[in-house]
Amino acid sequence: MEKNLRNERICEICGKSFMANKYRPNQKVCSSLECQYKRQLENMKMWRESNPNYFKYKESQDKSWKQACRERSLDWRRKHKEYLQLYREANKERHREYMRDYMRKYRQRKKQDQESSQEEIS
Ligand SMILES: [Zn+2]
Repeated sequence: MEKNLRNERICEICGKSFMANKYRPNQKVCSSLECQYKRQLENMKMWRESNPNYFKYKESQDKSWKQACRERSLDWRRKHKEYLQLYREANKERHREYMRDYMRKYRQRKKQDQESSQEEIS
């Protein structure tokens, strides 16, 4: 019983007494899921409050990663630009062909129209 008393704790969250895990003598929260979840949230909040610049700091320290990211994006943009240029060139050619064809048909139609109108006149 004495052993049990020594390990008995009062949960900081729900206020119920609980038996501390012998592997975690400093346990302050009972093992109920709700209390464990709340404890985790509390821990995260406390940790963030005591390390407010952690994420900023990590970001600024991780220049190599950022640099790699930037280069990758630049590389992609350059390739994309090349591709767009090729695409435009190909389309220009196609457009030119299309226009040539269109004009040829247009002239033919015009010619036919003129011929038919001349026929009408005569
Ligand atoms: Zn509890």
